[in-house]
Amino acid sequence: MGIKIKGLSKIYKEGDNVVNALKDVNISIDENEFVMIIGPSGGGKTTLLNMMGLLDTPSEGKIYIDDIDITGLKGEERTIYRRENIGFIFQEFNLIETLSVYENIILTRSLSGKATEKTYVKEVTEKLGIYDKLDSFPSKLSGGQRQRVAIARSIITKPKIILADEPTGNLDTHTSDSVMKILKKAVDEFNQTVIMVTHDLELVRYARKVINIVDGKAKYKNK
Ligand code: ADP
Ligand code: MG
Repeated sequence: MGIKIKGLSKIYKEGDNVVNALKDVNISIDENEFVMIIGPSGGGKTTLLNMMGLLDTPSEGKIYIDDIDITGLKGEERTIYRRENIGFIFQEFNLIETLSVYENIILTRSLSGKATEKTYVKEVTEKLGIYDKLDSFPSKLSGGQRQRVAIARSIITKPKIILADEPTGNLDTHTSDSVMKILKKAVDEFNQTVIMVTHDLELVRYARKVINIVDGKAKYKNK
């Protein structure tokens, strides 16, 4: 069980320009693990997250999640798998402006026809300092607040896997700490797996496994 990435490569082609963004990446991630991905800009970190989140398909190789080959999923199967199993915290917040903060947060579960525990919404939004904003609309929020709504939205469904691309990038130290505590709780108490890209080496201490992605290749640093 867990995630197994085997011989993953991604080649982007634009006219004559060919970028080898991932080169034969092999990674094994246990269930219920907190993994940090670090490495220089342009190394392939976001590309790797996009593949694991079924947002893009590899040029070669396979990704197994709990022994299901997710790279083989097509069309609606892909969408449903993604919606039910993966939570994203990306830098673009993608909030829906015509829905309130509360409606944005519960949206994914509503789409699957499931109810969301109100006590967990309260707990998460209180920790993130946005509980008093639940009835507000995204256009009334600051950038940092919008980011925290996006974080709440992606963890509230308790997806099996949370993929976070620099989630603390625009946050002050205090809020960044709250975010890390919530992600750690997701792993420790809710049995989720968190895979997080960061530039902030201070945050690496939260993870048991660190994967360094350099020039499309993965190097492990187990702690
Ligand atoms: P990182 O997240 O580590 O900064 P990326 O995964 O974003 O790195 O990018 C890895 C390489 O792939 C870079 O050279 C980048 O320019 C290239 N790249 C990423 N996405 C695309 C794309 N959609 N089309 C073409 N090249 C891309
Ligand atoms: Mg990136």
